[in-house]
Amino acid sequence: MLQNDSDELLKYKYTFPQKYAAEHISEVREELMRRGIDVLKFDDNTYIECVIWDFPSGWNEVLKEMFSELKSAGWKSDNKLKYNFSFGSITIEGLKDDSKVHLNEIVQRYIKKLHQTCTRCSSQDHVEHFEDEYLCQSCMIETFTKRTVDDFTDIGFKYYTPPIYSNEEGFFQSIRWNEIKQVRLSQEYDNLELELCKLTEDEESKNNDISSSFLRDNYINFNSDSTINFFELLRLLAINFPSESVKEQIDNVLSGLKFCKICDRRAIIINQCKICKNLHSSIENPDKRFIEKFGSAEKFIEYRRNNFLEFKDEYFPVRFIYDNDRSFFRTI
Ligand SMILES: [Zn+2]
Ligand SMILES: [Zn+2]
Repeated sequence: MLQNDSDELLKYKYTFPQKYAAEHISEVREELMRRGIDVLKFDDNTYIECVIWDFPSGWNEVLKEMFSELKSAGWKSDNKLKYNFSFGSITIEGLKDDSKVHLNEIVQRYIKKLHQTCTRCSSQDHVEHFEDEYLCQSCMIETFTKRTVDDFTDIGFKYYTPPIYSNEEGFFQSIRWNEIKQVRLSQEYDNLELELCKLTEDEESKNNDISSSFLRDNYINFNSDSTINFFELLRLLAINFPSESVKEQIDNVLSGLKFCKICDRRAIIINQCKICKNLHSSIENPDKRFIEKFGSAEKFIEYRRNNFLEFKDEYFPVRFIYDNDRSFFRTI
């Protein structure tokens, strides 16, 4: 419903009509006029406003600075900024008209600055690219803390529940082992999905509530690619959930975890290490080429190990999982 769109969204649609159907744009125009927003007065500043609105909020100030510098250098909004959000990740290429060298240099300088600015909070403290965002150290820690299942006891454990709607906050909550009535574990190659359900089969079949809050309260999902302590959770689930078939399934998964000679963690599932990403087969039986190049299999492994240590020092997400995910510690 157009009437529910914010002024910003309507202005955005009108400024980027190519993203929407032509009929929709004439309705957008009418709705804007009805709200007293005159589209005939749209100018360079409207374009700037819309571009900034499109980007993550942490980048607002840097983008404002960029456009004000561009304007002082003679830029006009018909020379649009070429940028793309695909699968959530942002690429900024430069200006549409690449013959204006001095303007493009300004943009290139700001692209660098943006990549050093947190997309959530604007901080410039150790910003790293992670998934679809650029995150500072503290936003990174916050993200990983929310992905960590923790505080395991004989009674239960703690996990994070994300918000359903954008105006809500997520929260940490605890679940008792005895609240879990069904366990569903599925595996696709080296990725495992775990769903814990608070309803019995009977309750589930009688219930057809599919509201978001009902699903959130009764179904808890974890994934081996993103949940920290995932395999630790599986191990304790096998102890605390009274079902032989679930125990057997979990035991199969856990006994399949192999030790990795490169990163010194028990983190290989199927053929790839979850932490250093090395292939088990290429470490156990290195290619002849590598043995010749490095002199021996041991030297090749040593080389890969040093590579990993450098990678870990440079890249926070790997370091965090390496240091904190107890699933992969050798003693477990
Ligand atoms: Zn941040
Ligand atoms: Zn490894």
